[in-house]
Amino acid sequence: VLRVQGISKSFGDNHVLKDISFDMQKGEVVSLLGPSGCGKSTLLRCINWLEIPDAGHIRLNSERMGYAVNGTKVGDAQLSKMRSKIGMVFQHFALWPHMTVLENVMASPLHVQKRNRKEVEQEARAVLKRVGLEDKINMLPSRLSGGQKQRVGIARALAMKPDILLFDEPTSALDPMLVGEVLEVMRDLAAEGSTMVIVTHEMKFARQVSSRIIFMDSGHIIENRSPEEFFDNPQTDKAKTFLHSVQ
Ligand code: ATP
Ligand code: MG
Repeated sequence: VLRVQGISKSFGDNHVLKDISFDMQKGEVVSLLGPSGCGKSTLLRCINWLEIPDAGHIRLNSERMGYAVNGTKVGDAQLSKMRSKIGMVFQHFALWPHMTVLENVMASPLHVQKRNRKEVEQEARAVLKRVGLEDKINMLPSRLSGGQKQRVGIARALAMKPDILLFDEPTSALDPMLVGEVLEVMRDLAAEGSTMVIVTHEMKFARQVSSRIIFMDSGHIIENRSPEEFFDNPQTDKAKTFLHSVQ
């Protein structure tokens, strides 16, 4: 589904990503771990072309992000279409404050994918039910708890029927009490075979849901292994230090 090949990215003379490569198959759940500042968010943003890498390719279902088949760069409309195959869930929800829950979930399918309103509304109601929010459909985001807001964030990503879901610390802004309900939704998605990349500090969760752990340090992938191998027997001193600091 996803192929990341030789991605590098610098901000000025800060070389944040250094030749990052990995592949993901359909249905895989990869947790992307590493110390603060190692480049996890930047990598997710490169995958959906919110940041343009300096070098390397991102391929989604063998289509190259940002480029047409003939190798030319695509325009904004085409890029939005490509991006809509990648669902992104942010730490701070990024909901539209003036739109109801239902309108938030319908916005991209209507305006980016230009799909039929009736059909979009039906599907939006279905994904909101899936995340347990069918009774909040007409509320504004400001009336919701953090956990509910984040479940709207997930419903909004799902409404695009993406091929892959990217989560950037989806529970880091939440009260500890509200973390569980969001992880529960993510666990269900993983069990249903969704392809997911998750940046998280929830190590127990990462171990339980992931098919693979990718550990980054200073812009490099230094471990890419099964959760059992990674957590029980980390190969690098950096990973050992990291695991000591978070557990
Ligand atoms: P955290 O765990 O704290 O979220 P991270 O692994 O997600 O960290 P990134 O946010 O990817 O790390 O940042 C990696 C480096 O890139 C940092 O040094 C950061 O300051 C820098 N950086 C990220 N985005 C930008 C930007 N838009 N402009 C300049 N520097 C940036
Ligand atoms: Mg980050």
